[in-house]
Amino acid sequence: MMYHTHLVFGLLFALLVLAFINPANKYIFLAVVVLAALLPDIDHENSKINSKIPGLRFLSKVFGHRGFLHSIWIPLALWLIIDFGFHSRYGSAVFIGYLSHLFSDGLTRSGINIVHPFKQLRIQGFIETGSVLEHLVFFFTSVLCIVLIVG
Ligand SMILES: [Zn+2]
Repeated sequence: MMYHTHLVFGLLFALLVLAFINPANKYIFLAVVVLAALLPDIDHENSKINSKIPGLRFLSKVFGHRGFLHSIWIPLALWLIIDFGFHSRYGSAVFIGYLSHLFSDGLTRSGINIVHPFKQLRIQGFIETGSVLEHLVFFFTSVLCIVLIVG
């Protein structure tokens, strides 16, 4: 999925979760979720996040695109480290944002292996990245976000 699709999926997940939890500052919570929704693609050499944050491109060589950094282990580790290591309440925000990215990549034809590298548990859909269908998904997810914000 393209970065803007990941952004709206991050926003959607954040808005859905906000109905159940009450963070200290919901705007910071939303911002952290949306930024975390871009994080997994640091394993892609030409991703938006790598064009904004210099010095991380080597990760694409180390891990490969949609490998370990697109598994459930990273968001779980970040949640534990941030919540318990730093006593911050925003570990869950990072977890949700990261999860929204894994979910939306799971809708694509190439999919992800959620438990990489230990086993094979592929999550795969039928959307081609950058296709008309992805643009439609982006549009309807954006509309859903607006409905949740306004409603
Ligand atoms: Zn990705």
